[in-house]
Amino acid sequence: MQKIPVAGPSITEKEIRYVTDAVTHAWYSNANMYHDRFEKAFAAYIGRKYCIALPSCTSALHLALASAGVTIGDEVIVPDLTWIATAAPISYMGATPVFVDVDSKTWCLDAKSFEANITPLTKAVITVNLYGSMPDMDAISDIAQRHKVAVIEDAAESIGSLYKDRKAGSFGLASTFSFHGSKTLTTGEGGMLATDDEEFHRRCLFLRDHGRARGDKMFWNDAVAYKYKMSSLQAALGLAQIERVEELVSYKRQIFGWYQEELKDVEGITLNYEPPVVKNSFWMVTIILDSGLGITKEQLMKDLAEKNIDSRPFFYPLSLLPAYQSLPQAKSARERNVVSYRISPYGLNLPSGLNITHDHVIYITKNLKDILATKRSTAKHTSP
Ligand SMILES: *Cc1c(COP(=O)(O)O)cnc(C)c1O
Repeated sequence: MQKIPVAGPSITEKEIRYVTDAVTHAWYSNANMYHDRFEKAFAAYIGRKYCIALPSCTSALHLALASAGVTIGDEVIVPDLTWIATAAPISYMGATPVFVDVDSKTWCLDAKSFEANITPLTKAVITVNLYGSMPDMDAISDIAQRHKVAVIEDAAESIGSLYKDRKAGSFGLASTFSFHGSKTLTTGEGGMLATDDEEFHRRCLFLRDHGRARGDKMFWNDAVAYKYKMSSLQAALGLAQIERVEELVSYKRQIFGWYQEELKDVEGITLNYEPPVVKNSFWMVTIILDSGLGITKEQLMKDLAEKNIDSRPFFYPLSLLPAYQSLPQAKSARERNVVSYRISPYGLNLPSGLNITHDHVIYITKNLKDILATKRSTAKHTSP
C-alpha cells in the first residue's frame, strides 16, 4: 500500500488544456493574457479591486511590507503559531517580528494579545487564517485602526473561507495567498497579492518590476527593487484552478465532514473549530490531543507512519525556532504565549489532500482510534 499523502492538488483536463494553451500561445503580444484573466477572476472571487500574481506567498508578503513602507527598526506583529513564511519577510525589511499569542479555539491571532503588544514602533500586523480558520477580524480591525497599524492578511491557507459573508483575503490594506502544491489551489509554486487601495497597488507594481513605473522609459529605473512575477504557464494553471474553486473548497469541507463523523465519539481530541460567524475552508484537518493522554504529536506521527499514513506536526511556535534565538523578544514570547505553547506540542495535521477518498478517511480514523485506545490502556496499566 502506498503512503496516504498529507496534502496535494486536484488536476484535471481543464488545467492541462489551459497550460497547453499557454505554452502554445501566451507569447509575443499575448504574453500576459493568462495573468490578466487569472488576476481578474481571483479578484472577483475574493471581492478585491486589485490582484497581482507573484512567484510565492512569501514574495507577496515581502512586497506588501515594502509597499506599506515597513523599514529598519519597525515592529510587525505576527501570531506565534504559523509557518515561518509569514514572519521571514519582516526580517527582509530590517524590521522586527513580534510574536503574540493565538486564541485557544480558532488557533489564530488573539485580539487581546495583539493589542497588548502594540508599541510606538508597531507599523503593521499580519493576521494568519490558520488551516482555513479565521481570527476575530472585527476586533482586530478595530484595534488596528485605533492604533494606526496596517493590517496585512496572510490568507495562504484559507481560500474559500468566509467571515460574516466576507471572503478570506478581503480584509485590511492587503492580503496574500499561496499556490504552493500543498495548498487548496495550486500553480506549482505561486502567490497572489490583493488590495483595494489604488495607490498601494501602484506601488506594488512599481516595486515588483525593478522599480519601473508602467509605461516609463525602457530600462530606466527609479529605485532598486524586486523582480516578482509569475510565469504565464503558472497563471494558466491558476486560472483553471480558480474557475474550479467552489468545487475544490466544497471537497475540502467534505473531507472534514468525513473526519468529523468518524471521530465524533472519540474522547480526548479536538478538531478544527468553526465559529458561528465563520465558514472554515478546512485546508488541513487538524487534531489537538488532550495533554492528559500523554502522547506528543511526534509520537503519534510515527505511529501513523507505520500504518502508511502521512501527517504533519502543528506548527512549532516561531519563538521556539533556532532561527529566532538571537531575537531578544523571542524569549519573552516564550513566556507570554501560553496558548501557543499549550496547543503546539499536541497538534497534528491529518491527510487532507484533494485526492483523499471517504475510504481513506475511514482507514485513517480507524487506525487513529486504535492507536489512541492502545495508548490509553497502557497509560492505565502503567500508572500507579
Ligand atoms: C504556505 C504558506 C505561506 C507561504 O507560501 P509560499 O507560496 O510557499 O511562499 C505563507 N503563509 C502561510 C500561513 C502558509 O501556509
